Amino acid sequence: MVYRAKGRVRDMEFVQFHPTSLYNPAIENPSFLISEAVRGYGAVLRTKDGKEFMHRYDERLSLAPRDIVARAIDNEMKIRGDEFVYLDCRHLEKTGFQEHFPTIYDKCIRVGIDPMKDLIPVVPACHYMCGGVMTDLQGRASIDRLYACGECTSTGLHGANRLASNSLLEAMVFAHRIAEDLLPRIDTFELREDVPDWNAEGTTDPREMVLITQSAKELKEIMSSYVGIVRSNVRLKRAMDRLYLLYKETEDLYHQTTISPQLCELRNLITIAYLVTRSAAMRKESRGLHFTTDYPDKMEHVEETYM
Ligand SMILES: Cc1cc2nc3c(=O)[nH]c(=O)nc-3n(C[C@H](O)[C@H](O)[C@H](O)COP(=O)(O)OP(=O)(O)OC[C@H]3O[C@@H](n4cnc5c(N)ncnc54)[C@H](O)[C@@H]3O)c2cc1C
Repeated sequence: MVYRAKGRVRDMEFVQFHPTSLYNPAIENPSFLISEAVRGYGAVLRTKDGKEFMHRYDERLSLAPRDIVARAIDNEMKIRGDEFVYLDCRHLEKTGFQEHFPTIYDKCIRVGIDPMKDLIPVVPACHYMCGGVMTDLQGRASIDRLYACGECTSTGLHGANRLASNSLLEAMVFAHRIAEDLLPRIDTFELREDVPDWNAEGTTDPREMVLITQSAKELKEIMSSYVGIVRSNVRLKRAMDRLYLLYKETEDLYHQTTISPQLCELRNLITIAYLVTRSAAMRKESRGLHFTTDYPDKMEHVEETYM
């Protein structure tokens, strides 16, 4: 919404992936996360044939930072054509595991996996967006009187790669700052109350919901395949071309049919996908959560990607 209203958004290419969500072919949305504390507790990552692989990527092995582990898993899956890797907890002590991770243990048992006897299939999942509505340190966006805080923002706090657990703190700190900034000013604002009702004249009821649901599925596939953990110029270009088609089709639908929450959501998702892809294409280096095979190194100075 802010982008459409010509407000500034920044750093949209920095999308954090959680390395280990439970692989569930039944498609669970949102995915169930196997906390990174499980690896901290001693669980080990293995490929489908049972071999450890993290030593080829980082000396910290399974305890390497999130982005490194997610990239390593993604690489192993791509090389081998596998849909997941395994997290091995079989050597861990059962009572301790149950005490530390009761929810994870219960969830695994419910889907037929006994973590003490079976390997847990895991796959990286899209987890957090570091970029967003650009704000200053008081939470003010570039549009006058618009404040923003939380995951939708880019306050600068997370840089190119968020440290775990920082986002809730950020949301609280900025909510507080916004309140402090706003309270002395709010009475001076003139608020408009003459916002017109939505005008649906000339639109028809959507007869085919499949046009929306199918486009949402396509969007997800495009982003997963081409703008995921590892990027390249060719992949980003392909994503942009496909996104443009979806954008055109959805804009037509938006102007011709009565709106629905599903249609509005799809339209917003396409805008976000476009911003992520375009920001990724603008960054000619690899930094933090953005990794591209065409520019694997960091540039010396940091460029902002804002629109
Ligand atoms: C599985 C998981 C585990 C996490 N664990 C941690 C953690 O341990 N520590 C940590 O700091 N962070 C964690 N995070 C990240 C953290 O949860 C989020 O960054 C944080 O909750 C974002 O809060 P928010 O209020 O900005 O956004 P949200 O919680 O996403 O709230 C946005 C709200 O806006 C509503 N909304 C959306 N569009 C519209 C619209 N058009 N009109 C009206 N309402 C709308 C949504 O329904 C939602 O209620 C985790 C995230 C995930 C996914």
